[in-house]
Amino acid sequence: MTRRRIAIGALLFEGNTLSPVISDIVDFENRYLLRGGEMLDGLAGTGTEVAGALELLRMEDAEIIPLIAANGGSGGRVSASAYATLRDELLDRLRAALPVDGVYLALHGAFIAVGLDDVEGDVLTEVRQLVGPDVPVSVSCDLHAHITPAMMRLADMLIGYQHYPHDDAFETGRRATGLLLGTLAGRYRPVMRARRAPLLLPAQRQRTKGNGPMAHAFGRARAREATGEVLTASYFCVQPWLDLPGLGFTAVVVTDADAAAADRVALDMVRWAWSRRSDFQVATVMPADAIRQGLAVAGGPVVLADPSDCVGGGASGDSAIALQALLDHAGDAPSAIQIVDAAAVSEARRAGMGARIRIDLGNKLDPAYGAPLSVEAQVERLVDGRFTYAGGLMSGVTASMGPSAVLAIGSVRVLATSAAAYEYGAEQFIAAGIDPHGLKFIVVKNPMNYQQAFAAAPAQFVLATRGPTTPDLASIPWRRLSRPCYPIDQSFEPEFTPV
Ligand SMILES: [Zn+2]
Repeated sequence: MTRRRIAIGALLFEGNTLSPVISDIVDFENRYLLRGGEMLDGLAGTGTEVAGALELLRMEDAEIIPLIAANGGSGGRVSASAYATLRDELLDRLRAALPVDGVYLALHGAFIAVGLDDVEGDVLTEVRQLVGPDVPVSVSCDLHAHITPAMMRLADMLIGYQHYPHDDAFETGRRATGLLLGTLAGRYRPVMRARRAPLLLPAQRQRTKGNGPMAHAFGRARAREATGEVLTASYFCVQPWLDLPGLGFTAVVVTDADAAAADRVALDMVRWAWSRRSDFQVATVMPADAIRQGLAVAGGPVVLADPSDCVGGGASGDSAIALQALLDHAGDAPSAIQIVDAAAVSEARRAGMGARIRIDLGNKLDPAYGAPLSVEAQVERLVDGRFTYAGGLMSGVTASMGPSAVLAIGSVRVLATSAAAYEYGAEQFIAAGIDPHGLKFIVVKNPMNYQQAFAAAPAQFVLATRGPTTPDLASIPWRRLSRPCYPIDQSFEPEFTPV
């Protein structure tokens, strides 16, 4: 038997229409941007989708055609030119490699570019045009994908991460490639259906381990797969900060040639999510109250989660709201916070290690929620900003937060970075010489990863703050979202529409 020729690529970015941040090629280079053969070694040993796919393709002795692998993390939108560069490079390499037997693409599902709301649909349109209607195309997406009609029409099979926090990108790449190879071997004929519930969910209660509602969704989906009723059942909670039509909780089900069963199971999954909608709501605490309660708890670090400035959800990461609260209320308790502020880093570097400087800090990239804080700080350390992820979907990848500075303001350590970097645990702080074990308070700017990374913390608080990744979805001034939609609209009869 001749070896199967499988083209493989990754184009990952999570957009946020509430964020003014425009991402560019450098934001991909800060995570990974690997071309052709660079992918093979560049992602070896990582927890990425590509690494999982490569492992299986090698095991099955397939001929691997590496296109490009690019991960731009999160932000507002990717610039039109950066997206065109990445897309054209992927397509040029695919064109040059034709014919291929199958294609696997690791996409996020919520990639938006300037002037383009459905990047995944655009990429798949072009890929489909090149390979024709008969070559199977397998796609994997983040659990927060916005599944569009174009994606459903153009992919043959589409699966999502099963876990949140996302620690199964490797497995997802392996599964998506396994479906592709199984199809090519004639073991099944995949058909796919999707249904959507008019429902947006804050991220905090989407944990797929433990006892919450998504843990139950996880168990139900795995049970369906185990009986053989479906090949795969995926739920997509959706990135909720996309003011786009058709946004909602979507289930995508792939079966072996049974469209009716796929649709029935997808409908059942979104009906279930709708029935549990009130279980996803989040209790937030005013920053001053959280600090007061944290001081009364023994030990540390007490986690202060600022969910509204989550770089991993597209916010700028430059909010100083939590810093202000620490300076006002935490006394001499040792504390740490990250703030993206390239200008502050430059000033610190100019002044040099040990210097005292007066600077304006934070709230510059996204000035909608506050003004920069005027502070006097000592430049405690200057670092190059390289760090390696210890877990999560970038596990094992060495990434960059750009040249960075540790600024001491009283007992607070501010890790000022020049670039935004999605946070899993304390990797960035540790790389900058800040030991989380010695802290009373640590500010994290994500809704979920800290629940796993800081599971041993004596207390965790979700701060009531404002920003582009707020859990208070009803507070967002929606314009394009299809209505009615929960929780913006509270009492209405839902339609569970096919996608
Ligand atoms: Zn996600």
